[in-house]
Amino acid sequence: MKTNISILFAALCLAITPTLRAEDDHHHHEKHEAGPNGGRVIDKVEPHFEFFVMPDKKLKLTFLGEDGKAVALKEQTVTAIGGERSKPTRFTFAKDGDALVSDKPLPEGKLVPIVLMVKMTPDAKTVTEKFNVNLAECPTCEHMEYACTCDH
Ligand SMILES: [Zn+2]
Repeated sequence: MKTNISILFAALCLAITPTLRAEDDHHHHEKHEAGPNGGRVIDKVEPHFEFFVMPDKKLKLTFLGEDGKAVALKEQTVTAIGGERSKPTRFTFAKDGDALVSDKPLPEGKLVPIVLMVKMTPDAKTVTEKFNVNLAECPTCEHMEYACTCDH
């Protein structure tokens, strides 16, 4: 009987260990979590916001609360420049519900460089975020590469 109990205890330990490890991984990759629409989360400003390319290729920016859900817009304003340096597309964003939506779609291409310029209040310093909008499907997670959460 004693033997059976120690075997049971050992089995329990084995069962618990992988669970803890999974939670560690989750924590480690927190910054790569996708936004509520499956977009890229920009964490350079508070609150963070999600950069999402809509099916019509217009850009949707959603500011997020601590829980990762959309929060109401305050005074933030965003402009952006994207595409080829020789003929860049300049974007302005207008309020649409709780989100900011661009006036134009992203220029053609599967890999489009973009610079976002964010002002949280009219007097705040402009925060710049540059990255490539990679519209290829990630082979290992459900997101497009620009919003990839698997860090492959
Ligand atoms: Zn991925």
